[in-house]
Amino acid sequence: MKRAGGCLCGALRYEAEAEPIYVAHCYCEDCRRESGSDHLTHVAVPDAALRISGALKVYEKPDARGTIRRLFCPECGTTIGGRPASQPGVTNIRTGTLDDVTGIAPQFAVFCARVRGWTVIDPDVKQFPEPPPDAQEP
Ligand SMILES: [Zn+2]
Ligand SMILES: [Zn+2]
Repeated sequence: MKRAGGCLCGALRYEAEAEPIYVAHCYCEDCRRESGSDHLTHVAVPDAALRISGALKVYEKPDARGTIRRLFCPECGTTIGGRPASQPGVTNIRTGTLDDVTGIAPQFAVFCARVRGWTVIDPDVKQFPEPPPDAQEP
């Protein structure tokens, strides 16, 4: 399926033509800070299927499993996705930046043990307190 999206100001756009590898909520602290809210929802696509155009900056931050390169617009600050070193060749697109989410359905949630008091974890998906040990997810 073909998907398009972009940042708040429109300077950074992307298109992806691929079936999602997975769709997942992440409640980890880094995703919380990046979003400015209580979690992020990712749709994972192969890098090879993703075409990014316009302004782009990359912020790379170490985490427990290596580093994550977060792709964002230098004009408005919107992050469109992340590329974890633990998942070579995969970009976790932020579902909030998609123009259309028809057919996108979260499958699981990770780092559920780290939620703050008011956060309601999506009850319709499988929940992991941390990522599963063999996980390939955000
Ligand atoms: Zn922007
Ligand atoms: Zn996260």
